[in-house]
Amino acid sequence: MSHPLPPGIPLSPERIRDLVEADHRYLWHPFTQMQEWYGQPCLIVAAAEGCSLIDAEGNRYLDGVSSLWANVHGHRRKELDQAIRNQLDRVAHTTLLGLAHPAAIELARELAALAPKGLTRVFFSDNGSTAVEAALKIAFQYWQQQKDERKRTKRRIVSFRNAYHGDTLGAVSVGGVDLFHERYRPLLFPSPKVTYPYCYRCHLGLSRPGCGMACADELEDVLEREGLSTAALIIEPLVQGAAGMVVAPEGFLKRVETICRKHEVLLIADEVAVGFGRTGTLFACEQEAVRPDLMALAKGITGGYLPLAATLATEEIFEAFLGGVAEGKTFFHGHTFTGNPLACAAALASLEIFRRERVLEQIQPKIRHFASRLESFRDLESVGDVRCKGLMAGIELVADKETRQPYPVEKRVAVKVILEARRRGLVIRPLGDVVVLMPPLAVTLEELDRILDVTYESIDTVTRALGRPGNKGKS
Ligand code: PLP
Repeated sequence: MSHPLPPGIPLSPERIRDLVEADHRYLWHPFTQMQEWYGQPCLIVAAAEGCSLIDAEGNRYLDGVSSLWANVHGHRRKELDQAIRNQLDRVAHTTLLGLAHPAAIELARELAALAPKGLTRVFFSDNGSTAVEAALKIAFQYWQQQKDERKRTKRRIVSFRNAYHGDTLGAVSVGGVDLFHERYRPLLFPSPKVTYPYCYRCHLGLSRPGCGMACADELEDVLEREGLSTAALIIEPLVQGAAGMVVAPEGFLKRVETICRKHEVLLIADEVAVGFGRTGTLFACEQEAVRPDLMALAKGITGGYLPLAATLATEEIFEAFLGGVAEGKTFFHGHTFTGNPLACAAALASLEIFRRERVLEQIQPKIRHFASRLESFRDLESVGDVRCKGLMAGIELVADKETRQPYPVEKRVAVKVILEARRRGLVIRPLGDVVVLMPPLAVTLEELDRILDVTYESIDTVTRALGRPGNKGKS
C-alpha cells in the first residue's frame, strides 16, 4: 500500500519521545497493568484510514478489533466525517432533558423501525455501560409500578456467569468475569447467576448435539424457584464477548426467551458488542426471531465514531412510566451528553451507509471466508478451540490440546501473540488466552486474509518459542 500519509504524519522523533514520556508520566490506561505498560512499546495512533491505523512514525497496522469492537465502515469515512461537520455547523451539543433536537428524533425513529419488533421507544445515553444501567433501572421500576401488588416483588436481575455488561456498578453487579468483577462484590447488588453455554469447556461435561442443551435447564430451575421475585434476565445474545467470544449453540437464545416469557421475566438483550451487523444480521436477536423487552446498544451505533448508546423498550414498558408527576412514575435518569447531536448525526449517516451499500449483504461472503479460513487454526498445536459468529472470532490457546489445560497465566501467551502481530502490522487485543479478531464490517477480503495470515504466523511463532511443536500438519 503506497497511500500518502495524512498531513502532519510522521511526527518528529522529538515529538514522539515527548509524547511517550508524557504518556508514562500522566496517563492511566484502562484495563491495563501500568507497571507492565511501561515495559512495552507505546503504540501512538496518530491517524487512521479505512481499516488501518497509522502510528506516529507513519507505520500502518490493520485494525483487527475495530478499535475496541466499535468501528463498522472503516475510519475516516467521508460520509460520516461530513455528517459530523454538517452537524457542527448547527450545534455540537444541546440536551434532551426538557428539549429535543432533530438528529435524536430522527435516529429514534430509525432505530425503532430497524429493531426487533415491539421495541418502539428509544432512551439515549452515551456508552454501553450506561445503556445497560438504564435497562436495569427501567426493568426494576417497571415492576414497581404495576397495579398488581404481587408483581411489585419482582426486583431481582438474573444474569450469566462470565457475562460482561460494562464497568459501572449496576453493570458490574450483573457481570460475571471474576477477574474484573469479584473485587467489587461488597459494592454490588446481588444477582442470581446461571451458566452461559461454553461448549468447549462444558460445565456439565456434555457435548453437542447430544446434550439437548441441558445447560438451559439451570435457568428454568432458577426461574421456577425465583421467577416471582425476578424482574429481568440480562443476556449477551449469541456471543458472550468479553468471556472470550463464547458462542452459544443455535437455539439457546430462543430457549432463554421462552423460559423468560413463561415466568413473566423481562428479557434484556445487551447488543452492545453484537449489534450493528457484527454477527451477520443488524441485531443478533434477529437470528433466532427473539423479541427482547429491552435492548442495549452502543459501540457500532455511530459506526464506531463517537460515544452514543441507546436503550430500547417496548410500548408496554414505556406506558408503565406514564402518569401525573405526583404519581412518581418518572424515569429519573439521564446523562449530560445523552443523545449528543454530533453522535446522533454520525449514527444516522452510519445507518444510511448500511442501507445504501447493502452492508449486511456485502458482508456475507466475508463471513463465509472468515469462518472457513479460521478452521485451519485448529491445525496449530496450541489452539484448543476456534469460535466465530459473523465477523467476531475467538481463538483459544491452550498449553495442552488433549487435556485443554490453559497456559500458566505468567506466560502471558496471548499478550506475546498480539505484540508479535503488531510487529507484523496488525493491531489485535486478547481476552485472557483467547486471541480476538473482530475486523470492521468494511474489511476487504485481502485485508481479512492478511489479518488471518498474521494472526496464524504470530500464534505459531510465539507458541513454538514457548516450546509447543507448532503446526503438526506441516512440519
Ligand atoms: N455490554 C457488552 C456486551 C460489552 O461488550 C461492553 C463493552 O465491551 C459493554 C456492555 C460496555 O460498553 P462500554 O465500554 O461502552 O461502557
